[in-house]
Amino acid sequence: MPASMPMSPEEPAANPSPTTAVGPDGATRSISETVARRVWVAAGGRCTMCNRYLLTDDHTGAPVSIGQLAHIVGWTTSKGSPRGTDPLDVAERNDEANLMLLCYDQHRVIDHRTMWEVYSADTLRAMKRTHEQRIKQLTGLRDDDRTTVIRMVGNLHGTGVELSPQTVASTLLADGRYPDYTLLGVDEYEVDLRQLPGEPDGSPGYWEIGRAIVTERLARLAAHVGKENVRHLSVFAIARIPMLVTLGSLLDDTVPTVVHPKRRAGDEGWGWTPGAPDVDFEHRLLQEGTDPHQAAVLFSVSGTVDRGRLPATVGEGTTIYELRPAGVTPNRELIRTRESLDRFTRSWADLLAELEQRHPGLPAVDVFPAVPITAAVAIGRTPMRAVHPRLRSPKDEGSIRATWPAGARRAHSDRGIYAGAAEAGEGSGEPVSAGRTRRSPGGSVARRGRRGTGGRSRGRRIPRRRRWRPV
Ligand SMILES: [Zn+2]
Repeated sequence: MPASMPMSPEEPAANPSPTTAVGPDGATRSISETVARRVWVAAGGRCTMCNRYLLTDDHTGAPVSIGQLAHIVGWTTSKGSPRGTDPLDVAERNDEANLMLLCYDQHRVIDHRTMWEVYSADTLRAMKRTHEQRIKQLTGLRDDDRTTVIRMVGNLHGTGVELSPQTVASTLLADGRYPDYTLLGVDEYEVDLRQLPGEPDGSPGYWEIGRAIVTERLARLAAHVGKENVRHLSVFAIARIPMLVTLGSLLDDTVPTVVHPKRRAGDEGWGWTPGAPDVDFEHRLLQEGTDPHQAAVLFSVSGTVDRGRLPATVGEGTTIYELRPAGVTPNRELIRTRESLDRFTRSWADLLAELEQRHPGLPAVDVFPAVPITAAVAIGRTPMRAVHPRLRSPKDEGSIRATWPAGARRAHSDRGIYAGAAEAGEGSGEPVSAGRTRRSPGGSVARRGRRGTGGRSRGRRIPRRRRWRPV
């Protein structure tokens, strides 16, 4: 056994070698080195129950082992043997499957006579399985699985939202990644808009200052992207739609990026919903305007944008398009798979292409999104600079100039992803103003990563009849 696993036979009974199993009465049983090593390694040197690291003292860092091999089913069938009456063959009781690694304290607890029923053999086996699986998953993460987290939190109609680092970490882990906090500290890429006044009524000051904050934070990140310190981005955002669109418009298109979805149903956690249906999207013409230089897009996804409530600036002159789910009523549970988000993004890219064709030179398009978080980010992220019109809210004429360095690594733009994203539809027809978008005609529109389903957006165009349906 390696020296780093303290196992000197001279150690007192209270600090037994790692190849010794201890019974409730202090008696010890020697376990074969091979079996002991396997149990220690599978447990990651941590207590199966409290996850304490067992090879050093927490306070001093001194190399003192506080781990014990514990029998799930006691090693004899006698009455004093914890769970000893289990039918497990006595000959198999010193095997790996019947041993778990615990700290002293926890070992004492499970072997205490009053706790034998609470910690039944099945319960302990389940704990061992869960702990060992987790250790294997965590230690299996490679350097490539590191991701830089952007967390954006704002108020929603007067209420601050919570999005803890623990939530972020566990969501990433489920996706086979771990957060890289090494760059500039844990909160460096947190965009916290919760202290900003004016959110409930969406005052111009709120959008203006909020945009400035988002821009400033993303510019810092851009510097690290430029130095190649950031190789993958994970976006967790929960805020008012215009802020999400703004965030999307500032996201670099050269770094693989996953925008994580917030679920609305069930545990209301983050992540995709396995088995949820993939939804198609279509766009259609609602009104042919008289002025080719005025266009508006209603995104009816989490709800239907009410035409009757559009501002007066969207009048007869404006050509109005609507992007909506095909064959399904808009609702808040719509985009629950990566594929659905990809289809939404492709549909929006197709509509942008239509706008480009039908309204050459259109300076800006008014957008009214009733969409979930991930789709809001996609709305801001999809347009290409120099090709597509700027997005604009008719209620909010101000617009930011995106400070993201455009095209810094354009040659690699196909590495980007637009995966991840789901629910949490928020608001309807909220004003949006995003900076002039910044992609070159060469940039790919629907981005995918190594976990994506492959292929460029252009490879799977939705049939024209579905994309274009004048009413
Ligand atoms: Zn413990």
